[in-house]
Amino acid sequence: MNYVIDAPQQATVSVAGTDDLFPIRRIYCIGRNYADHAIEMGHDPDREPPFFFQKNPNNVDESGTFPYPPHTEDVHFEIEMVVALKSGGRNIALDGALDHVFGYGVGFDMTRRDLQSVMKKMGRPWEIGKAFEQSAPMGPLYPVSQVGHPEAGRIEMKVNGEQKQIGDLNQMIWKVPEMINYLSDYYELAPGDLIMSGTPAGVGPIVRGDVMVGTVKGVGEFRCEVI
Ligand code: MN
Repeated sequence: MNYVIDAPQQATVSVAGTDDLFPIRRIYCIGRNYADHAIEMGHDPDREPPFFFQKNPNNVDESGTFPYPPHTEDVHFEIEMVVALKSGGRNIALDGALDHVFGYGVGFDMTRRDLQSVMKKMGRPWEIGKAFEQSAPMGPLYPVSQVGHPEAGRIEMKVNGEQKQIGDLNQMIWKVPEMINYLSDYYELAPGDLIMSGTPAGVGPIVRGDVMVGTVKGVGEFRCEVI
């Protein structure tokens, strides 16, 4: 059997300190997972169950550059800890959920906020604001054997050296095992799935020439220039 067209390239993210690649199957992103960010976006953090949207696997870009996308004048950065799954399943129990994690990384959930806002107002899906080319700049993954399972520690974003976002992993409303548990009730999780675990307060716009540096304490740092 032959493919009738060339098979698309497998999306990947590298594994820190090795030549190895982690193949990406899906990318789930949680919304409003830090109370202070939910509040800054005009929502009550206590009354909402978790919700997720997806980016496309090939939206991941490790180049350290972010091309300013078309049809927007308000692109925002969102620093997030990335969770990479080595196994999956359905109805995964809270207890033992972390056994499915391969490792963790630092990623940016780049957002065409103006387009997202229009879609929100119209009650339409968010894809156009969230899942565009190179919308997931990301650094390498660090295996659990190196970084454990980070539950607390500073998460921050600096732009041109100026601190924009600051928070702590312990402020996540839905913790990593809870996200795995919840997602696996609605989807079948599988090896290669990534979860972007939400962003703390302080999101804001970037322009060409800006340098974004995101840090998740205990995981790593990722630098990306807007071009
Ligand atoms: Mn986000």
